[in-house]
Amino acid sequence: MSTVHIVGAGIAGLAAATWLLAAGRRVAIHESAGHAGGRCRSFFDETLDRTIDNGNHLLLSGNVAMMDYLRRIGAEDQLTGPSRAAFPFVDLSDGSRWTVEPNAGPIPWWILLSGRRIPGTSVFDHFSALNLATANADATVVEAVGGEGPLFRRFWEPLAVAVLNTPAETGAATLLWRVVRETFGRGATACLPLIAREGLSQTFIEPALTYLEANGAKIAFNRRLRAIEREGDAVTALDFGDVDVSLDSTDSIILAVPPAAATSLLPGIEAPLESHAIVNAHFRLEGAPAAVIGGMPFLGLVGGVAQWLFVRGDIVSITVSAADALAEESTERIAELTWADVAVALDLPASPIPPCRVVKERRATFAQTPAAEMRRPGPRSPLGNLFLAGDWTNTGLPATIEGAIRSGEAAACAVAT
Ligand SMILES: Cc1cc2nc3c(=O)[nH]c(=O)nc-3n(C[C@H](O)[C@H](O)[C@H](O)COP(=O)(O)OP(=O)(O)OC[C@H]3O[C@@H](n4cnc5c(N)ncnc54)[C@H](O)[C@@H]3O)c2cc1C
Repeated sequence: MSTVHIVGAGIAGLAAATWLLAAGRRVAIHESAGHAGGRCRSFFDETLDRTIDNGNHLLLSGNVAMMDYLRRIGAEDQLTGPSRAAFPFVDLSDGSRWTVEPNAGPIPWWILLSGRRIPGTSVFDHFSALNLATANADATVVEAVGGEGPLFRRFWEPLAVAVLNTPAETGAATLLWRVVRETFGRGATACLPLIAREGLSQTFIEPALTYLEANGAKIAFNRRLRAIEREGDAVTALDFGDVDVSLDSTDSIILAVPPAAATSLLPGIEAPLESHAIVNAHFRLEGAPAAVIGGMPFLGLVGGVAQWLFVRGDIVSITVSAADALAEESTERIAELTWADVAVALDLPASPIPPCRVVKERRATFAQTPAAEMRRPGPRSPLGNLFLAGDWTNTGLPATIEGAIRSGEAAACAVAT
């Protein structure tokens, strides 16, 4: 039987591998790190004496490919979240608090009710969503919805930065719209917020590895692909430095590595190469903190440095996206700046700062601008037996877990057909 070699054991590679195994194909995975998960992983931190995630990941019930993936690997019970589609926010500059809560159907009746609207906004402000829906491919979020006013500051900007990991001034309007359409546009059932119950690895990675092993897949860690050997338009061997893997004429490869690695292995392919950082700070409190608004496990923050706050047990974590400037600061300074926001949001003492671990992901995602959107390739490459996957490929979605899974499945599907 032919083998599909998958290079990269991030979510995209794992989604491709599990999809192909479920379809009865033989799979071998090669991963350069000593572990799977890539940008979606958990690790034990000695300062906190806790297992933490590299970054808080917020998922939504409308992420259909993600839900299918979790069912496939038997981990659908590993996500948890509130029973209401509700997104609580606090404005740190004036203390006002509100909750964005879509109603059941696709028509957003909630914007008609002043008590449900974001403070300071009118019904008419919300018509800016129509401009997002009809934005051209080269429009940024600010060009589509305008870059001023309470609705921008308290809704569009935090949403754009969180979804695109790119400032609203440069982020692609069309990409943001696709997420709004697939989630808010389908009403509350598609917008239930979900987070990993114990950790990202326990939810997305470990069950996938168990599934791979149970289905006979081979996985090799600490195996970095260094070069691709080819004859004509076919790959003939994979050069891992100490090991050379020769390919049969019926074998295929799925390259599920980040864009910089893909372009160095395959010079000439188009890829979005500019990236933005995400910074997370994890604080261990003395005991579990008071619940955030309405007992929700997360809170959106406006008007400070921290943008989102998550609570899991006695760990409070904050996320800052599009954080290239912040990532240049020392970890002590980041802890100081972001704890000040947590203290205000949760009404906790400003000092002393609790034990903290800062994680800087400098290349968290590609910069999701209109120009980058044009550079995302599909799953097929110029080489007939080599396919591309990864959150940066042309999934039609931003660089997210949902996008990474769809990319892996699109590449797997292209191999199989
Ligand atoms: C801090 C942070 C917060 C995030 N928050 C969210 C969120 O809230 N919601 C959401 O949906 N998404 C979020 N994301 C995005 C999500 O994590 C990514 O989209 C997804 O993990 C990307 O998966 P991938 O498989 O495409 O890439 P990667 O995870 O980068 O996987 C690529 C793999 O290839 C390996 N590799 C690289 N080069 C080679 C080589 N030469 N040979 C062999 N292997 C190689 C790497 O080690 C890696 O394991 C976040 C990301 C970060 C970093």
